Amino acid sequence: MAMQDLLNLNLSDHTSKIIAEYIWIGGSGMDIRSKARTLPGPVSDPKELPKWNYDGSSTGQAPGEDSEVILYPQAIFKDPFRRGDNILVICDSYTPAGEPIPTNKRAPAAKVFSDPKVVEEVPWFGLEQEYTLLQKDVNWPLGWPVGGYPGPQGPYYCGTGAEKAYGRDIVNAHYKACIYAGINISGINAEVMPGQWEFQVGPAVGISAGDELWCARYILERITEIADVKLSFDPKPMQGDWNGAGCHTNYSTKSMREDGGYEVIKKAIEKLKLRHKEHIAAYGEGNERRLTGKHETADINTFSWGVANRGASVRVGRETEQRNKGYFEDRRPASNMDPYVVASMIAATTILWDPEK
Ligand code: ADP
Ligand code: MN
Ligand code: MN
Ligand code: MN
Repeated sequence: MAMQDLLNLNLSDHTSKIIAEYIWIGGSGMDIRSKARTLPGPVSDPKELPKWNYDGSSTGQAPGEDSEVILYPQAIFKDPFRRGDNILVICDSYTPAGEPIPTNKRAPAAKVFSDPKVVEEVPWFGLEQEYTLLQKDVNWPLGWPVGGYPGPQGPYYCGTGAEKAYGRDIVNAHYKACIYAGINISGINAEVMPGQWEFQVGPAVGISAGDELWCARYILERITEIADVKLSFDPKPMQGDWNGAGCHTNYSTKSMREDGGYEVIKKAIEKLKLRHKEHIAAYGEGNERRLTGKHETADINTFSWGVANRGASVRVGRETEQRNKGYFEDRRPASNMDPYVVASMIAATTILWDPEK
């Protein structure tokens, strides 16, 4: 019997039991961990799921002497790997006493997104996740000659052909797997640096933007694992004349989407400008290597915005200006940013914060 036959066994022909893969974020803030458990039957709401635990001392998250960390199920997706009624479960982490552990960024974000003022504004997020595929044993981008360089940037962005696009099967497998899972993935494209790609999640409302992006990252880790390719979220994987990797965050509120919303957008951008330093500090590790003012980025120390300007910190689309309503794009977040942190901070600054107070 081939291994594939066993992997493809359809459990629901034989039992009502399902497998739930519990997923959480480890101590580095970028390591995605998961383990599976059997449940008696299909589940449609995370509230029906049992809490679980893990050994925090093995993930760099043990708070004090007691190494037990408790997982709270928060969001459910269909499992594209096991299929059937099996599920992926996005969780966050708590002490046995019920306090979010320090690396739990979801809990404070959920607080922001449950504030009545924020709820009323129905914040939408569109996250453009850029990432780089690396040859596993040499840590060098996929398609690049080992120890050498491909031709200069130009032909690779949205490129096609064996000497321009490297890793498309991974990208397409991930795209379909995300749609299957129930993630609002809105598209994919090859990036400017060869071996670098992007997928977009959104528009997603509030905290679900973070849950969906983390689940999409998890699925990508699993698919690159199958392909024996290394996944990198480093904001500047290759020094020199090569574009870095970001996670542009497109954002709108209800009042920005309604007639006259451009005025609301401009006010929000003014607030972002006033808190530029705080936002940059929360927008990803190593972002200073990427935000140089070159390669379609703005300098990390200076806030700027403009219509259709890809060299600005914040870009407003031509269409938003013309229709006098719409959304804007925060181009500062790095590819390794935490969407819970970034999305909730943008909502807090633009909706909850009053600079006069
Ligand atoms: P870019 O032109 O910068 O490459 P993309 O097309 O890659 O932009 O991504 C734009 C993202 O913004 C998409 O995920 C899209 O769903 C999202 N988006 C569209 N409209 C809105 C909106 N009103 N508010 C927030 N996000 C939006
Ligand atoms: Mn894009
Ligand atoms: Mn891009
Ligand atoms: Mn963009």
